[in-house]
Amino acid sequence: MSARPPRVVGRRGEIARVPFSVVNPATEQTIVELDEAGVDEADQAVARARAAYPAWRAVAPNDRARLLRRLAALVEEHGEELARIESQNVGKPIVGARAEVGMAADVLHFYAGAVDKHHGETIPVGGGVDLTFREPLGVVGLIVPWNFPLNISSWKLGPALACGNTVVLKPAELTPLSALRLAELVLEAGIPEGVVNVLVGPGRVVGQRLVEHPDVAKIGFTGSTEVGRGVMRGAAGTIKRVTLELGGKSANVVFADADLERAAAAAPYAVFDNAGQDCCARSRILVERSAYDRFAELLVTATGALAVGDPADDATEMGPLISADHRERVASFVDGDVLFRGDVPEGPGYWYPCTLVEATNDDRIAREEVFGPVAALIPFTDEEDAVRIANDTPYGLSGSIWTENGARALRVARALESGVLSVNSNSSVRHSTPFGGFKQSGFGRELGLNALDGYSEVKNVFVAT
Ligand code: NAD
Repeated sequence: MSARPPRVVGRRGEIARVPFSVVNPATEQTIVELDEAGVDEADQAVARARAAYPAWRAVAPNDRARLLRRLAALVEEHGEELARIESQNVGKPIVGARAEVGMAADVLHFYAGAVDKHHGETIPVGGGVDLTFREPLGVVGLIVPWNFPLNISSWKLGPALACGNTVVLKPAELTPLSALRLAELVLEAGIPEGVVNVLVGPGRVVGQRLVEHPDVAKIGFTGSTEVGRGVMRGAAGTIKRVTLELGGKSANVVFADADLERAAAAAPYAVFDNAGQDCCARSRILVERSAYDRFAELLVTATGALAVGDPADDATEMGPLISADHRERVASFVDGDVLFRGDVPEGPGYWYPCTLVEATNDDRIAREEVFGPVAALIPFTDEEDAVRIANDTPYGLSGSIWTENGARALRVARALESGVLSVNSNSSVRHSTPFGGFKQSGFGRELGLNALDGYSEVKNVFVAT
């Protein structure tokens, strides 16, 4: 696989003169070498997107919807190929990668259907008629992390294109391959040249340039809270719109009246899925003290049964971490009372075992996002204590509540400072429902019809009659 012009901006950059390797984290083997884009290429990509904007925003809604539907169909048609690219590049189990590709297609179908359902209104006023219009923003920069590269790209591309914007999509340096393939499918679908541009290069160079570029109207960013802060600062110079989907430290709250077997069987998937490299990971498992010992025992058994190994194998449930550097960072969190540590394959690969640690909410492991297969088990005394501990974090992205008491489930759901919650489930994302954070997990919403608000501007027109 190689970077392919003209849509892929990847000429050897001024900043890094050596090509960089895209590596399979399960084998440590290079999949492909790509050339890094630099500031010049970022500017070229923005210029191309800007040139394509007037024609794209003028495409009739029906036709724009048809093109998006064709792209969705191509993603489905090439589903297995895309899943293999994603599995190899991220080290994620192939079964999960297939599901993610399926979701990306659903997302694109959803926004194809939304093109002519997101519209203005007439407002009763005196002396005339008042109309609102939903206008596209122009060129939008979409900055994506390495944990769900294709999926998160689709969450941003779908609404951005549906609203009539043109885009520069910047995947993470470690995982650009599915975005590059998607860019080819965009062209094959008949979406005109320049509407979608993929920029492969370092975040601090090309990402930063997009954030500061005067011709970029909005940044749709998903990544760490730390980089998100810089994006917000960088966007201030041009009063750029930003959507920030950032880190999390979510709670899995298990009450003693829950179906403990079911909760314990599900809990490993809530934190070890994607090897814990999931912004929605419920990495703080809060358990009511009276059920703590029983739940811990069930959880250890369920965690020990996770199939860790070759991501290409259909039976595998957890693969390696993304890189050696990341593994070192994850390992730095683990000390104290280790309740369980799993096995990992021998040989190459950035493996890290599933790890359960008994902790308090003041420990570093409970305060910072680990972004690896490490969970903190924390006891609580009653409902009030559970809510207090769950909310005692700067983050507010997701979380689960396990209880057989429906009124309690709703009470706790209303009390938690978090954007995406589930009751008796691990589920966080669906193409049709809003997704996003409270507090330092960011702002703005992706997915569902809400995302369209983030890629359009409301214009008000008064006509005197
Ligand atoms: P990261 O913040 O390091 O990088 C994210 C993206 O930003 C990458 O494409 C990177 O190249 C780019 N970038 C880096 N520096 C930049 C800069 N100065 N200006 C502009 N762009 C820059 O995050 P990561 O390590 O790729 O991903 C892991 C993080 O993403 C975790 O914190 C995770 O919680 C978060 N995440 C959040 C969500 C969500 O929806 N809330 C989803 C997935 C991941």
